[in-house]
Amino acid sequence: MSFDTLGLSAELLRAVGEQGYTEPTPIQRKAIPVILKGKDVMAGAQTGTGKTAGFTLPLLQRLSVDTTKKGRRPVRALVLTPTRELAAQVADSVEIYGRHLPLRSAVVFGGVKINPQIEKLRRGVDILVATPGRLLDHAGQKTVDLSQIEILVLDEADRMLDMGFIHDIRKVLALLPKNGARQNLLFSATFSEEIKRLADRLLNRPELIEVARRNTAAEQIEQVIHPVDKHRKRELLSYMIASRDWRQVLVFTRTKHGANRLAQQLEKDGLGAAAIHGNKSQGARTRALAGFKSGEIRVLVATDIAARGLDIDQLPHVVNYELPNVPEDYVHRIGRTGRAGNEGQAVSLVCVDEHKLLRDIERLLKREIPNMVLAGYEPDPSIQAEPIQNGRNGNGRSQPRKQVVGRSRVRSSAKRSTTDGHGPGPDRSGEQPTRSKPAHKHVRRKSNDSQAKSQHRHPRSAQSRERAALLGGRIREE
Ligand code: AMP
Repeated sequence: MSFDTLGLSAELLRAVGEQGYTEPTPIQRKAIPVILKGKDVMAGAQTGTGKTAGFTLPLLQRLSVDTTKKGRRPVRALVLTPTRELAAQVADSVEIYGRHLPLRSAVVFGGVKINPQIEKLRRGVDILVATPGRLLDHAGQKTVDLSQIEILVLDEADRMLDMGFIHDIRKVLALLPKNGARQNLLFSATFSEEIKRLADRLLNRPELIEVARRNTAAEQIEQVIHPVDKHRKRELLSYMIASRDWRQVLVFTRTKHGANRLAQQLEKDGLGAAAIHGNKSQGARTRALAGFKSGEIRVLVATDIAARGLDIDQLPHVVNYELPNVPEDYVHRIGRTGRAGNEGQAVSLVCVDEHKLLRDIERLLKREIPNMVLAGYEPDPSIQAEPIQNGRNGNGRSQPRKQVVGRSRVRSSAKRSTTDGHGPGPDRSGEQPTRSKPAHKHVRRKSNDSQAKSQHRHPRSAQSRERAALLGGRIREE
């Protein structure tokens, strides 16, 4: 099937052709005709499925039908995204796909000066891409008028709710024309009860669109678990990157501190590495991402939040240096690879402390991830599981996932740390993979309820500060 059959205008088809796209992805096939008809949409689609073009192309077409508004151009379409990176990427897509149309777009997010954004808004834009915090700052200063929005897109809505944005979203909705007078498009990788409640409030008789999830059999990501002791993870990672000659690897850690330290250690091992997380300035993150895309930086070490929305074409390798506390984050992480039809590989280094996290992930995926012990890196069966030092007791759910702090609900969080040391050199004579289950099943997990309790309420925790930094320096807990 080609793009020509979807009802898109010649200008848009030209832009799509210039991108080298030959046929629409499943979400594009399903969403574009429905959005062109002006219907509300609730779409289940993850990053990497082509969803951005799925909503951007028909949105541009609908706006381009009427460009006759006189005087100062009102903002007519608003795309809300959870992170700056995603906002920047969506804005790039709007520019690229709309390059042959007489429409103007802008992006606003925190962490950068507000004045150039004000200036751009003042000159008039048709399409605005924004993160909620900075958008509300503009609304508060009356530098943006949202009263003439015709199309609203909530991109990665599940992530926005996870990040405690529900209040900001409500405030934004209150500034828009009444529901019924605008088209609403909601994109989400998962459909929780909270998402359904938001959808009920927001959408008018929406068309439901779902495409194969990344965690179904159709996925093109090869997943594997390598059981390894915690203190030997760094060494194994360096060994894998060097011996397999991986040129572009995205590595996930649970903490910013862990990301920094690992990037430094990899550098010492002679592997060009950089860390990307919420404590880094926007400039540093942009530089790291550009270096990674260009091949200058071989290993990008990222936290979950910082990596959200990164769009790197054909990323071949993702490594879970540490498993995420929240199983859904595993799906988001591995979704960085195997994008838009390319093959990818997701490797997880799992120590005995993380077996419970692994079980939760496999339950979510509804399948076991192949397990491969690497020769020379066999876990030591005498090592006992220890609680994961990150404020949650292993599965990330034992504390309330959201806490009420002041008026905002934020995901629970607390001080985190990781420990990864240097072990003795392995026997690298041969990497003979032996398939087995982790050898630690008999190890009884220590209770860490007391730890969870002692870390229960840290209103300005490391994680929330990271979110705040990512969201323009605003601490989300008000
Ligand atoms: P997204 O899910 O929107 O983040 O898109 C993921 C990647 O797929 C981006 O790099 C897009 O440029 C690419 N892409 C989007 N649509 C197509 C298409 N029809 N054919 C090939 N690549 C595409």
